[in-house]
Amino acid sequence: MPPLVDPVPGGRTGDHARAHALAHELSAQGVRGIVLAYVDTAGICRVKTVPCQRLQSAVAWGVGMSPVFDTFLANDAIVRTDVLGSPDGDLRLYPDLDRLVVLAAQPGWAWAPVDRITQEGDRHPGCSRTFLRRIVADAEARHGLTFKAGIEIEWSLGRAAAPGDEFAPATTAPAYGATRQIELSDYTADLLAAFEKQEVPVAQLHPEYAPGQFELSTGALDPVAAADQSVLVRQTIRAVSHKYGLRASFSPAVTERGVGNGGHLHLSVWRHGVNLHSGGEGRYGMTGEAESFVAGLLTRLPALTAVTAPSPASYLRLKPSQWAGVFTAWGRETRETAIRIVTGTSGHQSQDANLEVKPVDLAANPYLALGCVIAAGLDGIASATPLPEEVVDDPARLIPDEAVARGVRRLPTSLSHAVDAFREDEMLRAALGPVLADAVVAVREGETASVADLDDAGVATAYRWKY
Ligand code: GLU
Ligand code: MG
Repeated sequence: MPPLVDPVPGGRTGDHARAHALAHELSAQGVRGIVLAYVDTAGICRVKTVPCQRLQSAVAWGVGMSPVFDTFLANDAIVRTDVLGSPDGDLRLYPDLDRLVVLAAQPGWAWAPVDRITQEGDRHPGCSRTFLRRIVADAEARHGLTFKAGIEIEWSLGRAAAPGDEFAPATTAPAYGATRQIELSDYTADLLAAFEKQEVPVAQLHPEYAPGQFELSTGALDPVAAADQSVLVRQTIRAVSHKYGLRASFSPAVTERGVGNGGHLHLSVWRHGVNLHSGGEGRYGMTGEAESFVAGLLTRLPALTAVTAPSPASYLRLKPSQWAGVFTAWGRETRETAIRIVTGTSGHQSQDANLEVKPVDLAANPYLALGCVIAAGLDGIASATPLPEEVVDDPARLIPDEAVARGVRRLPTSLSHAVDAFREDEMLRAALGPVLADAVVAVREGETASVADLDDAGVATAYRWKY
């Protein structure tokens, strides 16, 4: 599929006629309204909806929404930057018709992700989806590189009837346990049915480690589609959970202790249809470029954490020896290094080989996270950054001197430390552009200030049902 062009007032070529036909089709299927979705800087998915009959107008002229949401916090408080957060102005939301999906678990509704432009028809520099589209398009135009990406989705399933904001796990059966699968049999079958109807290619669905935790993974897609899909998957999981009297939390840490919910990001870099992570002269079949891509990422991980783990709750999850990958190290199939090299099984390596970035959670805006991870990797390629030695076993076991000698650093232990590293990272800030980079800093500072008086349990409670 050719890359999507930016929306323009009047609509992208062909969209008006397409929306006309689509609106009729959707109405005939019983669809009443369309959810127009985007993710804000804080990682919250914000929506507007329009009735089916307005789809044509929406693709031509967009749907209005204030830019103020770019500096909303997860608790809906508003912070400001030089250019964002004021009550003035308006943006137009343009649905991407290629990604419009009839929602299987929300009868009467369809869903589409949007790009946002100004009323004058310019790119909105705070639009994270436009940012990721730009990063991906530039990589192809300048370097002939394309990507395949996937975002794993972990969630904690609680009972909706639990009092207040409490988390009462929907099952206390063992991790990966058959009992857990049996207890939630109808629920998980309904989930799979919804994804089948929505043509979301589920790879796996399994009971995870923490109480009430499940995980779903999907096939690899181009990065923008992968980010869209992660938003759609969460919308669907929430809707199916709701029908069962259950409540899904994608918060990095539903409670202050123990294993949290990750949003591990899988990524591979390709040139002319060839996977650079396989068949090369480097370690585990990586090409030199793939090695440098990983090295570039490792170098910038502390700063990247401000984007991939953007919530105060993220730092309750980012603890050693909990498979969240909190050390700047890589290893083949190592679940404690920040980057796990996945070679794939013999016979499938040229298709499957990829890297997994673990210190990513689902409070992260997936468009920002993927765009920044790709920018960091590309910078590694551009500067031919050498890949350090592999770390086997848990890097937490390295004695401090050895870790220092091998360049293995602990990732930031708080959001404010991550923001400090991000502020210093000129390359990442330039990739995002000043508007988005400043929004990232302001929103993270706002989140930090909003929990200043809370202990860990209070932080977990504050964000439990926000993501
Ligand atoms: N739940 C773990 C995390 O916080 C990940 C477990 C796994 O490797 O799937 O990232
Ligand atoms: Mg998992």
